[in-house]
Amino acid sequence: MGTRDLDRRTFLRTTLLGGSSALLASATLPDIARSTARASTFESPIIRRKLGKTGIELPIVSFGVMRADNPALVHEALKLGIVHFDTAHGYQRGRNEEMLGEVFKNYPRDSFVIGTKVHPEEIDRKTGIPGPATTSKAFLERLDTSLKRLRLEYVDILYVHELSRRDAVLHPELLEALTLAKKAGKARHIGFSTHRNEPEAILAAIDGGVHEVVLSSINFKQAHYAEVKHAVEKAAQAGIGIIAMKTMAGAFHDREKTKPINCKAALKFVLQDENVTTAIPGITNFDHLTVNASVNTDLTMTNQELEDLALGQTQGGLYCQGCEHCIPGCPKGLPIPDIMRAYMYTYGYNDPESARTLLTSLDVPDNVCAGCSTCTAVCSKGFAISERVTDVMRLTKVPAEFIT
Ligand code: SF4
Ligand code: SF4
Repeated sequence: MGTRDLDRRTFLRTTLLGGSSALLASATLPDIARSTARASTFESPIIRRKLGKTGIELPIVSFGVMRADNPALVHEALKLGIVHFDTAHGYQRGRNEEMLGEVFKNYPRDSFVIGTKVHPEEIDRKTGIPGPATTSKAFLERLDTSLKRLRLEYVDILYVHELSRRDAVLHPELLEALTLAKKAGKARHIGFSTHRNEPEAILAAIDGGVHEVVLSSINFKQAHYAEVKHAVEKAAQAGIGIIAMKTMAGAFHDREKTKPINCKAALKFVLQDENVTTAIPGITNFDHLTVNASVNTDLTMTNQELEDLALGQTQGGLYCQGCEHCIPGCPKGLPIPDIMRAYMYTYGYNDPESARTLLTSLDVPDNVCAGCSTCTAVCSKGFAISERVTDVMRLTKVPAEFIT
């Protein structure tokens, strides 16, 4: 190893472990140190945590099924001890739930845990507030469709999909829908998912007293990680189960996929926080599965993993942290964080179908950036916003049947 390599390694370790970054400020160091001291091996037992007050106990690594289309992966995951599978009404236009239904039809119902997410009928993407078409009835009809696809009488966790505002979390029609679903025995436990403005949404759940589980974006690239961690702690104290998603923060630092994120390290980082019950990393092949499943028995972080995370913090990457700093600068009020998420789905996750589904729900005019001589929306992470918007919006012109 050359002197330059040593210098770089020393610098990165200092940055992650001794610097003044948000990562350190969020009191991550003691967590990492505790985990590292807790040495374990692949033969170690699976680490399990309680999901709030639900009575469910889960291995710390679960299966984000969003992009998976191979039933053999799900069977193999079960063999490796993964029991919790996360899907959504909208994933793969329903095929994702159907695939799980086909897999689980022959398994005892108490041998797996299924979470699915149902979108409200209408959300104003600029304000994050549900529109008048959002009704309990419409939500429950979608749930019935999901249950049919899953071939289940109930899901273990039912989420309202993608809420980011306090008023959305506490929206009466959505609270009624969740409560009725539980009362009717169609959901054992209820909650919501949140991709941005997570602290506000999570803290609203505590005040609402209805939600039992929150599925939240949590990762090492969030500049507001300390705030997310604090909200998670408060929610856990209130008995709400916390499940982490977007742990891989886009999977790549660049659109060309030359700089992969160390996803195993990123997953371990999130799970250092014992208030996080489990995480749902996206798994699309057997290599992903093997790597992620290994974390179930070993949270120890290696020096290399610490360095990779420190390096990752210095990269702009594909992950939009939903900070919304860019929004006031755009005179057209574009839902830029949603568009950036679609960009990440396209180039980080290789999932143009999910990107297109998201983009078509946003109602953005054609060539929307063409009218601006200069882009006045400034990204806190340095993303070239108009370039990314223009690039990814092209997907809306492609007929859905051409993208699978
Ligand atoms: S170029 Fe696009 S993102 Fe930038 S300010 Fe104009 S409409 Fe908004
Ligand atoms: S595009 Fe940049 S400024 Fe806008 S929400 Fe995402 S990270 Fe924040």
